[in-house]
Amino acid sequence: MQEEVSKNNKVDVIVVGAGPAGVSAAVTVARGGKKVVLVERGTFAGSKNMYGGIIYSHAAKEIFPNFEEEAPIERFVKKHTYVLLSKDDSTTQITYENPQNEKNAFVAIRANWDKWCVEQAKKEGVYYAPETLVRELILEKGKVVGIRTDIEDYFADIVIIADGVNSLLAKQLNLRDDIKPKNVVLGVKEVIKLKPEIIEQRLSLKNQEGAAVELVGGPFSGMFGLGFIYTNKDSIAVGLGVSLEDLKTKKIKPYELLEKLKSHPFVSDLIEGGELLEYSAHMIPEGGYNCLPVLYTDGAMVVGDAAMLVNNVHFEGTNFAMISGKMAGETALAAFEENDFSANMLCLYKKKLLNSFILKDLKTYKDVVKILTKRSSSFMGYYPEKINEFFGIFTCADGLEKKSKFQNFAKNFFRKRSLSELFLDMTAGIKLILGILK
Ligand SMILES: Cc1cc2nc3c(=O)[nH]c(=O)nc-3n(C[C@H](O)[C@H](O)[C@H](O)COP(=O)(O)OP(=O)(O)OC[C@H]3O[C@@H](n4cnc5c(N)ncnc54)[C@H](O)[C@@H]3O)c2cc1C
Repeated sequence: MQEEVSKNNKVDVIVVGAGPAGVSAAVTVARGGKKVVLVERGTFAGSKNMYGGIIYSHAAKEIFPNFEEEAPIERFVKKHTYVLLSKDDSTTQITYENPQNEKNAFVAIRANWDKWCVEQAKKEGVYYAPETLVRELILEKGKVVGIRTDIEDYFADIVIIADGVNSLLAKQLNLRDDIKPKNVVLGVKEVIKLKPEIIEQRLSLKNQEGAAVELVGGPFSGMFGLGFIYTNKDSIAVGLGVSLEDLKTKKIKPYELLEKLKSHPFVSDLIEGGELLEYSAHMIPEGGYNCLPVLYTDGAMVVGDAAMLVNNVHFEGTNFAMISGKMAGETALAAFEENDFSANMLCLYKKKLLNSFILKDLKTYKDVVKILTKRSSSFMGYYPEKINEFFGIFTCADGLEKKSKFQNFAKNFFRKRSLSELFLDMTAGIKLILGILK
């Protein structure tokens, strides 16, 4: 890094963290002709990063318009499937395919994708400093003026904080609190190697087509969580995200849940004969609009997961990260035009977010997670179970008359669910719909 910055260790902008948010911020600043250093603690970009598997093309294109031809894409997502699981059986509820929009999303491996993005950014003039851990921000009269690394101090007019969900740097500035267990989901994932033709045959895909499968119910038994399956070229990612609070109160280990998920017949049939390549875990901010940190201060802006910008209902995090990074980069360029790096100027970043899908969507969904968490035992446990039970009866021809089976089903349904609980679920459902539409 020493050779990359001027003698007094000063550049225009420093970006901390080379995930999707940081690289997008850095490349935007470099395109505007300013000197920017992108600092990453990992040995290479992506080495410390884990996620489910999907990146959205609209955001990737906005940052790297040529990505489709050159980036390390595993598979474009041809099919989006939502599956309701019970203990052993499953109801494939919806599979959506749109031939007009087959390139809406793609699966990529972060170690490859993040590395590729950094290589593009370097070509466009970003100075990249891997294996550099930022210990803290340097402040002068309350304004952020630089970073302290293990090696040396470096200075800039603006620091963009893109250090991910735990963001020690945003905490240092008191822009956000420690993340609370109820506002965070723990994600765990295994990658399982399988021949491409087996993946395609098991998921009814054609050559190089990909699938995203979201799993509701099953091993979560009412905890706030979802499972997922994404297809790489020659492996399948199986994982889940589950509320840290639920894991704590129910004293369940996330890998135990993952083992249960993998042994569900719907999943075990898909991964049978595969070879485990890797296991990883990472947190996802969950708080949404109601838990947003302060997004800017004198000399600094916070982007991506560090700013808790994730829409969990739609599994959107990388696009929020990339576009928030871009907006912070644009704001930095505007600040240089005005030669003003104060919070007064950097509030433009928040204005941009407010006018974009990012804060509009988070606002739309601001109560969804809260409502679903409260009634997760119903929506993520009881109902998926009962829907499967219903279909089990509906499809079973065993020589017994149907009427008494349906009567038993109805009796059990109400025996285990009091009217007041049903009322609460219904109210929650109405609140969800009204909250989204209003
Ligand atoms: C299980 C799981 C599944 C997910 N699935 C999806 C999905 O399918 N689609 C989707 O869009 N999103 C998904 N997400 C969310 C997505 O991964 C994040 O929203 C996205 O990675 C945020 O990008 P970021 O750049 O803000 O942070 P990160 O990707 O976390 O990058 C932060 C970077 O900062 C570096 N860093 C941290 N501290 C320092 C420091 N002090 N000094 C130097 N460097 C530092 C880290 O090494 C890292 O490279 C998922 C997340 C998880 C955990």
